Amino acid sequence: MADNRLDGKKVAAGIRAEVGREVERLAAHGVVPRLDVILVGEDPASKVYVGAKARACEKLGMASRTHRFPADADQATLLAEIDRLNADPEVDGILVQLPLPDHLDTHAVLDRVDPAKDVDGFHPVNVGLLQQGRPRLVACTPAGIMELLRREEIPVEGRRAVIVGRSDIVGKPLAMLLLHAHATVTLCHSRTRDLAAVTREADILVAAAGRLALIGPDHVRPGAVVIDVGIHRITDRATVERLFPGDEARLERFSARGSVLAGDVDFARVAPLAARITPVPGGVGPLTIAMLMANTVRAARLRRGIDG
Ligand code: NAD
Repeated sequence: MADNRLDGKKVAAGIRAEVGREVERLAAHGVVPRLDVILVGEDPASKVYVGAKARACEKLGMASRTHRFPADADQATLLAEIDRLNADPEVDGILVQLPLPDHLDTHAVLDRVDPAKDVDGFHPVNVGLLQQGRPRLVACTPAGIMELLRREEIPVEGRRAVIVGRSDIVGKPLAMLLLHAHATVTLCHSRTRDLAAVTREADILVAAAGRLALIGPDHVRPGAVVIDVGIHRITDRATVERLFPGDEARLERFSARGSVLAGDVDFARVAPLAARITPVPGGVGPLTIAMLMANTVRAARLRRGIDG
């Protein structure tokens, strides 16, 4: 069988190369785009993501700063830090690493970020602009999925797109982007009745539910394009063997590292049916971080009135 995998790493490398050229162009204007990340607490996954974002900036010749706060930091302290970064002309992008500890009001914190520096695209102003079809800074994961579809020449116009998951960071903004690209869009969620019947209608099926291997062969129409947003760390061997039967390479990775990643799609059973499919890892994940870099450069340009 031909390899029908959509290579997110390759597409992300293409996006990063373009961002790198933009960074060089901005350097001619004396501008070094800068991303500032706020990290609250000690969540290990968040620390890994923040480290990866800082490294990605460095590799592209962009500046980055990480502002760390203890897990019990209070709301007023965080808001004051955001105010300071909003006012700092050197700062182009501000990202608050989520999730925040429970005692903090996530909406209030995100609403405080200057919309012009909101490189995560979570501020209500940017969400509203997207809704109206005037996107400015768009959430990175949905923006990355649209870039993948575009660069892999997967037609969207007139096609039936079904998204499983209605979160503010993936499902809802992706629905808007696909709608503006002229797909017929259905959003499913935890209360959708007969999920498989709905997802089988999809020409493009996006799984963003945060449920390991939720999407099996019964959910997929043969010939559909399947995009897997979910990220799960599997730490028991029996689950690896069940989900990836006969996949010796994955079992070896599991033995070496004690865990492997998998998505919301039962990849081994769905891949033979799909026209194209994103793997986990190496699918949507690399695109998200590439789009964060693209958004930071875009924010740097827009704030200074430099044409793209
Ligand atoms: P979330 O928990 O905020 O939202 C999950 C959504 O899925 C909800 O709308 C819920 O109604 C729906 N859902 C849950 N169970 C369902 C079920 N059984 N049937 C149908 N719908 C169901 O999650 P999120 O933040 O959008 O993230 C989703 C997944 O994507 C997670 O695994 C997360 O780790 C991953 N993620 C990956 C990236 C990336 O860069 N690859 C970025 C963001 C999130």
